[in-house]
Amino acid sequence: MSLSFSTAQNYIGGHFRPHAGKNIEVVSPLTGAVISSAPLSAKEDLDAAVVAAQAAFPAWSARTLKERVQVFFRLHGLLEKHKAELSALVTAENGKTLPEAEAEVLKGMELCEFACSLPQILSDEIQEVSKGVECRTAHVPLGVVASIVPFNFPLMVPLWTIPNAIALGNCMILKPSEQVPLSAHRLAELLAEAGLPDGVFNIVNGDRDIVEAICDHPGIEAVSFVGSTKVAKIVYRRSTDRLKRCLALGGAKNHLIVLPDANPDISAANIAASMAGCAGQRCMAASAMLAVGKTDHIIAQICDEARKIVPGKNLGAVISKEAKARIERYIAEAEAAGARVLVDGRNAVVPGSENGYYVGPTVIDNVTPDMAIAREEVFGPVLAILRTDNIDQAIAIENNSSYGNASSVFTQSGGLANYVIERVSAGMVGVNVGVPVPREPFSFGGWNESRFGVGDITGKSSIHFWTKLKKTTTKWDPEAWKDWAS
Ligand code: NAD
Repeated sequence: MSLSFSTAQNYIGGHFRPHAGKNIEVVSPLTGAVISSAPLSAKEDLDAAVVAAQAAFPAWSARTLKERVQVFFRLHGLLEKHKAELSALVTAENGKTLPEAEAEVLKGMELCEFACSLPQILSDEIQEVSKGVECRTAHVPLGVVASIVPFNFPLMVPLWTIPNAIALGNCMILKPSEQVPLSAHRLAELLAEAGLPDGVFNIVNGDRDIVEAICDHPGIEAVSFVGSTKVAKIVYRRSTDRLKRCLALGGAKNHLIVLPDANPDISAANIAASMAGCAGQRCMAASAMLAVGKTDHIIAQICDEARKIVPGKNLGAVISKEAKARIERYIAEAEAAGARVLVDGRNAVVPGSENGYYVGPTVIDNVTPDMAIAREEVFGPVLAILRTDNIDQAIAIENNSSYGNASSVFTQSGGLANYVIERVSAGMVGVNVGVPVPREPFSFGGWNESRFGVGDITGKSSIHFWTKLKKTTTKWDPEAWKDWAS
């Protein structure tokens, strides 16, 4: 398929618009070549988007929920129809493999399915609380809301927020990652084709300046953020300081606890895939493996699996030259501090894509808890193995992490699995699962410094974030005054 890359543009009030700021180059990690450019918008571009969203809000929020979700039935069909094109676009701008990009489109469709189920889930409560007196709750949209997203899932992470926030009656401003603005641009076209009225969905591209302007803007009621913990803290503090509702998902350091009785085949395949999938650039990626007791045979098998993962074939590129340098620096520092590099992905070169940003799968043994590679988010296809004598030492290392997105345990014992489930400090836990992402309708969200704010970003939990409750008490029966509570 031949793809042409137009310049990403802001999308405001149903039209792609020129912007007031500069442009930044968009580079494909697969080749290192410039494939497009993205606007670095100015504050007046955001102002225009807020005006457009505010203008669209009264009519959009006045429609029934059942009517609003029709857009997402149609978007679901369009995502399916354009799956090949969208996957190629995601691959070109993000660097992940085509099957990984396809999985991203499929997950986006599943997120639309959840939004389409909202009328079934969201029957508001009504009850006769005393004779002739009724109380009812209604979920009321907030108004104009913003969604700020990272580079690693250019299509899926925007779809964590767009369907639910908009189906629930809000109008949205999306701020894509300036590294991958093209999938969001295409999504705006598909939302228009799906029948979304002008102004309900808007895109304002940009970097730090526009994120800060979103946090400060008095016309924006709520801000959702997905990205690194450093920026999540900035966005959470700044938005809530302006008295906005904010849910900010941050980075991760996910621990896998591997017990000696684990099934070696299942464990090795799942751990290697979790560590290297999407080139390790998943907030749910296996990052630190806590090998409890006699697990050498499993580690050997993980190395065998890792060697089957080949850059440029079944392993994509990392996002930038800087990311490649950062990942390789973590490996070198761990090695210099005494860790053993069992599988070394440094200096990977893909024939025909010599300028692409590739790091091969890397497995490092004898990592100690004080090393940076054991504590910090590497965000590359690297597995750091820490040896422990018993399960409680492993849990203590997991509990000591400042993050808390995901943890998994590999074992054949239900009792030991439960022991770990009860004690790990993470929002999403797996048993013999390398990437324990909950499928819809179960919600997605971590703990500790992997998430700031209340609730999760998808599933039923997100309903509370995107709406406010109106509680109405109604008295019709003239006799009802006799009751003390009415
Ligand atoms: P990032 O934090 O650098 O950027 C995220 C967004 O914030 C982008 O839109 C970017 O333009 C903006 N931004 C960057 N620096 C900023 C600053 N100083 N002030 C204000 N805004 C700023 O994250 P990234 O590199 O795009 O994505 C990778 C990170 O996202 C990883 O840490 C990963 O774990 C995390 N992530 C977390 C989840 C989750 O669910 N917890 C999901 C996906 C990615």
